[in-house]
This record gives sequence, structure tokens and C-alpha cells, in this order.
Amino acid sequence: MLTQLHDFTVVSIPTTTNFRGINYREAALFRGEAGWSEFSPFLEYGAEESATWLKAAFEAAHQPWPELKRSAIPINATLPRVSPDRVSEILKFFPGCTTIKIKVDSFEADRELVVAALAYNPEAKIRIDVNGGWSREAALVNLSAFHNYFGEVFEYVEQPCDSLVDLADVKKRIPIKIAADEAIRKNLGSNFSALSEIADVAIVKWAPSGGITAARKLISEIGLPAVISSALDTGIGISHGLALAASLDQLDFACGLGTVALLESDICDPAVIVRNGAIDVARMVPTPALLAKYRAADDRQEWWKNRVAKIIDGGWLG
Ligand SMILES: [Mg+2]
Repeated sequence: MLTQLHDFTVVSIPTTTNFRGINYREAALFRGEAGWSEFSPFLEYGAEESATWLKAAFEAAHQPWPELKRSAIPINATLPRVSPDRVSEILKFFPGCTTIKIKVDSFEADRELVVAALAYNPEAKIRIDVNGGWSREAALVNLSAFHNYFGEVFEYVEQPCDSLVDLADVKKRIPIKIAADEAIRKNLGSNFSALSEIADVAIVKWAPSGGITAARKLISEIGLPAVISSALDTGIGISHGLALAASLDQLDFACGLGTVALLESDICDPAVIVRNGAIDVARMVPTPALLAKYRAADDRQEWWKNRVAKIIDGGWLG
């Protein structure tokens, strides 16, 4: 199977903000008969979790995309937890985006981020992402505070609590829609038919779902409107997220696929970044000069090859 990873190259690209606590992004790129693909689970992920990403990467390299229903995908701006005086500098990376997703820790700590985003674009729809960080009580206090202070600007709050029971309760009590992200990603293989009791929107990512086919199946099982998002991929991984979004019958929301703008550079030229609030859907090929410029050190090439080998040899691909 390792012999199927043609031109396997690990790149290491600095990030422009401290996103998820990382300052550079490593990704393994390779190609198969259908085109280029990306395998880039975060470094701390173990073999079982990473195997799902590898399934996605193999499918993308070796299988053609499904039928696409649209040629461009509307994109949201993604605002990490930066100091408020950097907000306009970062939002400029997302020209034409009218939806802004903001990572928050609490109302007190991050109110000014929302203020700065709305100062940049008073018409913006705001999403806040808590990554499951609040207890039920903290969610009620913080979301009430956000709603009372800002009013109807919120499109939804992403994963306010970890616990599904807490989410269901918060959904009943707070007049802001709820999007499930970790609740889906960390429970793959579960029965999601009751997810509409805890959420209004499903966040689905190409690689952590195991690829386009698996993600499409997941979305139809969940039965909620889907937002396709990403995990700080290069333009290669993003292109597969765009194809997933383009393959859906229904796409009601802007997608979180503009994050190449948070990297110092893409590996593709032109970069897979937002123009006029959207990104066109196309198979992408890395540019040799960028592959050479961002090629990771030899020991990192070895580390990633071993990572792939461990997943295959360990039988994790099933
Ligand atoms: Mg999220």
C-alpha cells in the first residue's frame, strides 16, 4: 500500500496566527490515479483516529469525485482568538465573506473580538465556536450574555458543551441555534438519528469523516443542514472539502474552507483562498517550487512515512 503513495512529500508551513496552539502545519501530500491528496491529522492523534484521515486521503487519491452540483462554494471567514487590534488584518484575508466564525473562551474574554468583527462588517452573521469548552451552566450564562449584548447577530454557536445531555438542555433554553461538531466527529459510527434534539446544524469535515463517500453518508444519516469545514489543510485537502460541499443536494450555509488564508502560503498556485466570498471547486496540484520551499526536514519525512506504515500494518484501515 505504501507503494501507492506516489511523490509522498511532507510539507511544513508556518501559520500566520497561533491557531489551535500551533505555529506551523505539517501535511503529507501524495498522488494516485485520480489526483493529488493530503493526509494531515494533527501530530498528537493516535493510529485509530488518524486511520480515518488516511481512508479519506486514499479515496481522494484513487477515486474520482462524485457528481458536483455547484462549481463554487460560499465561504465563512475564520477568526482565531487573536487580540482585537488584529481582527481587521485577519478579516482582510477573507474578501467578500459575510459570515464570520470566531473561536471564543467566554463572553467576558472575547466580547471585544465580536465587537471588532462587527465593526469591520456591521452586516456580518456571527458564528461562535466553543469546541465543547463549557459546562451546561457556563453555556447558559455565556450564551445569555452574548445574546443580550449583541442581539440577533448570531447564526449559530458551535459545540458549546461536550456533553450531549447538556447540549439538549442548552438548545431548549437559549435562542441561538446550535451546531454539532465534536459531537459528530468523536462519535463516528454512532446512531445520529436523534441529533436534531441537540443541534440545528451539523459540522462535517472531509478528512475526519473518512472521505467524501463516508461524509455524504454521515450527512444523510444525520438529516440536518450541513456545514462543510476543514482542519487547517493545505489547498489540496481543501479542494476535497470543496468537492464534498459541491456534491451535496442542499447547501444552506457558508462553509469553513477558507483557512489556507491562515497559513503563510498555500502549496498550490494560485492559492485555494477566498475571492468574492467564495472558492471555485477544482482538482488542485501542488506547485513544485512551493513543495520545494516548504519541504519538511528528512526526519519529518520519515516520521510521517512511519505514521502511515503503522496505521496500515496495525490493521487500522479495516
Ligand atoms: Mg468547531
